[in-house]
Amino acid sequence: MNAFLRRGACPALAAPMQTGDGLLVRLNPVAGGPSSGGLSPKLLIALAESALRHGNGIMEVTARGSLQIRGLTSESAPLLATEVDALDIAVRTGVPVETGPLAGIDPQEIANSRPLAERIRAAVEEAGLAQRLGPKVSIVVDGGGQLRLDAVTADVRLAATRSDAGVRWQVSVAGDGRNAKPLATVEDDAACDIAIAVLRMTAEKGREAHARDLTERQLASLASWHSVPPPSVLPDISSDRGEVALSSPLSLVAGVAAITQRPKGEPAAELPISPLAGEMSGRTEGGGQDRLPAPPTPLPIGIFNLAAPNTAVAIALPYGSMPADKIIDLAQSALALGTSEIRLAPGRTLLFLGQPTAANRPLQDTATTLGFVTDAADPRTRIAACPGTPACASGRIATRDIAEAIAAESADILDFTLHISGCAKGCAHPGKAALTLVGGENGAGLVVNATAKGLPAGYRPGYDAARGISRVAAAIRSARLPGESAAACLTRLGAAGIAEAYRQE
Ligand code: SF4
Repeated sequence: MNAFLRRGACPALAAPMQTGDGLLVRLNPVAGGPSSGGLSPKLLIALAESALRHGNGIMEVTARGSLQIRGLTSESAPLLATEVDALDIAVRTGVPVETGPLAGIDPQEIANSRPLAERIRAAVEEAGLAQRLGPKVSIVVDGGGQLRLDAVTADVRLAATRSDAGVRWQVSVAGDGRNAKPLATVEDDAACDIAIAVLRMTAEKGREAHARDLTERQLASLASWHSVPPPSVLPDISSDRGEVALSSPLSLVAGVAAITQRPKGEPAAELPISPLAGEMSGRTEGGGQDRLPAPPTPLPIGIFNLAAPNTAVAIALPYGSMPADKIIDLAQSALALGTSEIRLAPGRTLLFLGQPTAANRPLQDTATTLGFVTDAADPRTRIAACPGTPACASGRIATRDIAEAIAAESADILDFTLHISGCAKGCAHPGKAALTLVGGENGAGLVVNATAKGLPAGYRPGYDAARGISRVAAAIRSARLPGESAAACLTRLGAAGIAEAYRQE
């Protein structure tokens, strides 16, 4: 078995995380191995029953497609681990190398990303990188097609492109599909080597580092490597600083080649490039103070055609969260309708496969009745809301109730991401949002174009926050120019104008 695919003794189960509502376990179950990638409905039901028995009954699917079980205690977490192990569910461990949920079965994909992802997993293991990198460092291998991974942020992204020369992989770093910094477009072998080189450079900077911390010089060395034939000699290494001489492109090439081209089985050399003092970071995330974050990427929800007559139905959990008993009900319905496999997918969705086409609509109807999101236009897809009160002890506002009220009353203006955070930690949306409601000592603060840690422009009592957003919505409706998006209108209104509207009675 691939070492990145383990049964039993799952580290995630053995080391749950402390959260405001108890311990949390996160896993990436992979029943049937890497060529399958999903759970049978019966296994998902058994997992949910275990979550009900030992947690607080809340299950989540994250934006990256991981499963989370919440509200465990130090006594119940081992019991859950024992039951999950007994279900013989394989879980991925190590550095996450993520592929699209339809990889290998999507007739519209440019390339099947699974073989390259497996190569990268093996290379990461061989290089011993999992122990040297922080737990949030990740790689995305996106073969294109109907369910792309553009919304998933990663340290290294490999995206398939098609040209006259055949399939190539565009390698980029530090970001999502919109803002990652491109390095090179290369064939499979080089893509794998560059990805490993990026991880090595990142590991050199310590376990807190990400690819965004690489210097411009390091990125340039990675970007230029593919365009020059690999050298047959090792790089010239200076004796005082241990740096590769940078006088020619070939030396940069040699530096990367030294760590990526080696006899099989031998440990790779470290690339000895250190950042210069004061050198610009390679960070590409974020933007100008005044620029609003990009509009949210539509979630992959609905019916997707596979090789005829097969289809897949993607159903999202509202705000990524659902009571376990509702998940059990939906999985039981899917089982009765002929679903053979349920995959966890990025975008907080569950992907149902194997049922006859005629079963898709009844499955969606059942999901809608249970409260799941079955339509990509559902306004809840534009709201990121953490558990808040009463689920999380750190929460100061009832995030989910506020979200439901806003989705019902102000759906027409939600063409931007609205973040509702129980406290300044901002668990549901670590990045900037156009508007963020954040719970604090003064009630529900409204932060404009920043993260939940930003300074609120105005406050309202927590119980009244949805009404404040309805006042902002009214201001947008009256100020909006023909054809103007609500997000653009917010920019024109400015933080002061938005705060004034938010405070209105
Ligand atoms: S952001 Fe939400 S989930 Fe995270 S600690 Fe604060 S209240 Fe709890």
